[in-house]
Amino acid sequence: MKEIPFLRPLVVLKEAYQGYLAEIDATRMYSNNGPLNKRLEERILQEYFGNMGADVTVNNATTGLVLSIAQMKRPGKYALMPSFTFAATPLSALWCGLEPYFIDIKPGDWCMDEELLEEALQLLGDDVAVVIPYATFGTELNLSYYESLLHRNIPVVVDAASSFGSTKEQHHLRGFGGAVVYSFHATKSFGIGEGGLIYSGDTDLVRNLRQSSNFGFSEERESNKLGLNGKMSEYTAAIGLATLDVFHEKIANRERVGEWYRKAVGKHKLSEAGWRVQEGISKVAYQFFPILCPPHHENNHYIEKLLNSGIQARTYFSPPCHRQKMFQHHPSTRLTVTEDISRRILSLPVWEDIKLHQIQRIVKCLAE
Ligand SMILES: *Cc1c(COP(=O)(O)O)cnc(C)c1O
Repeated sequence: MKEIPFLRPLVVLKEAYQGYLAEIDATRMYSNNGPLNKRLEERILQEYFGNMGADVTVNNATTGLVLSIAQMKRPGKYALMPSFTFAATPLSALWCGLEPYFIDIKPGDWCMDEELLEEALQLLGDDVAVVIPYATFGTELNLSYYESLLHRNIPVVVDAASSFGSTKEQHHLRGFGGAVVYSFHATKSFGIGEGGLIYSGDTDLVRNLRQSSNFGFSEERESNKLGLNGKMSEYTAAIGLATLDVFHEKIANRERVGEWYRKAVGKHKLSEAGWRVQEGISKVAYQFFPILCPPHHENNHYIEKLLNSGIQARTYFSPPCHRQKMFQHHPSTRLTVTEDISRRILSLPVWEDIKLHQIQRIVKCLAE
């Protein structure tokens, strides 16, 4: 039988962005917030955030996280975050001179547990410099809680790396007053190679971030704050604009694949056998389909089983950050749910033109 790879990213073909490249030839603007970057920012703000707030493109989400944390952090030592996230989250805190402090997640939506977070906030007080929730696999965060932290002067940077394209009625992070960081890496739903975007409902914050992503330059080109080069090239923005032209189709395809998975999981009565899909309210433009194997089973058993049937799967985020050498000595709350979920998590194949029969084959293999 034909092999099923984990991902088959499909960035727009060159024909789709030729016209934009011709504009670069004509303007001879290759970077520095050129016309294509401006248009990409304006269109995203209008089409996905109803023109509320502001946004700035960056060369990748990791840079976006570093810039946002550096801009927003208050004096203090710790960056509170889940351990069930990608290494870029704790790494960006470390680059800002902060120590990651890991908070356990909730068993249903696999996002940071607000009760444990609140306990840590009480315990650590002014030692908390910033809180960095991760909108796990594109699901919806408890935004009103994080808004309330902002009102208590606790900075919040959302790692929304896998969220661009996930919606409620509008984009669910629309209007949020902290920094929201998206990744446009080739493996994400809005994949353009390398790239990212910082959004905020706070336009002053975005103005400052734009400045720090350009060496901290003021209008007089004097460096007056800690900056770096986080700019997106015009060539990347060209691919971004061409992707935006067809993004609604890409979202629909990814949502449909998620529906197929849920149906197949229901048909094979996997939940009765102890399997769990992620809870959440928003519609997710899936990057891959996450699922938990039954308690007391191990994900690696199923990875092997799938592989024997020619199906490639992964285990994001296992090992979780606190199990990785770089982060193993950082403080944390109890991490029992993180431990349980990272032992059970499977990331199943998704790409935009994957076929229904392939999804059925994958789920059948798990059920047998
Ligand atoms: C992909 C990802 C990042 C990093 O994004 P880049 O654009 O590759 O820097 C950060 N956090 C999470 C949770 C991610 O999934």
